Amino acid sequence: MNTKNELNLLRDAAINKPIHSITKFTTLDYPHHLASIFWFAKCNMTCPYCYNPQIVRDNGTISLEAALQFLQSRKGLLDSVVLSGGECTLYPHLETFCETIKALDYKIKIDTNGSNPTLLATLIEKGLVDYIALDYKAPKQKYESMTHYRHFERFEQSLKMLIQSHFPFEARTTLHSDLLTPNDINTIIEDLHVKGYQGTYYLQNYLHVEPTLGATKMQQNQFDLSQLTPLVPIELRNF
Ligand code: SF4
Repeated sequence: MNTKNELNLLRDAAINKPIHSITKFTTLDYPHHLASIFWFAKCNMTCPYCYNPQIVRDNGTISLEAALQFLQSRKGLLDSVVLSGGECTLYPHLETFCETIKALDYKIKIDTNGSNPTLLATLIEKGLVDYIALDYKAPKQKYESMTHYRHFERFEQSLKMLIQSHFPFEARTTLHSDLLTPNDINTIIEDLHVKGYQGTYYLQNYLHVEPTLGATKMQQNQFDLSQLTPLVPIELRNF
């Protein structure tokens, strides 16, 4: 169930046009797939380093119907769609949307901050998603200050559910070295290990692009990768 704040976000986003914009073609976001990306407007978090401030702040401009028409027109050229944002799991009609995408025979990848474990579980149970990228924003003690979102327990529930269901997913963290220390990342790695995470943990280096949501500056601190404890397989992106 959405919180009051999340419902306000949805009202502002105009539910009938929830998509901010569409990337028509990518081979990068969903490896080994020819995908399109649907960027859902609005988010229930405000991470300072967020590269998509306009997607988080602005209203959507594209209806689900128009997005489906686009997929119809790309049949045979694309094999999958990435539902990203913003936070796509805020949308109450996402399950129906995924059903319709599946009926068109596309695979679905979801990028999520993990704040809607109930919807994720439903989508998995019903076979309406093929892959999930789950952001592990920060260790519990820094989670709220990093995201301005109080419910670490919701993220944790998503993480546990994904691990226990053996669903194909990746846990990943965007690393800004002035915001997260090697100790913070080791806390995340240890938590993944303790919870039984079997996949690769992706550490994504922050690349300075303006504007960001919190006017984040370039990284000043050196991040010593040698301090990381490889309790789970770690792969670096953009280092
Ligand atoms: S980086 Fe943070 S604020 Fe930006 S879309 Fe992802 S969860 Fe939302």
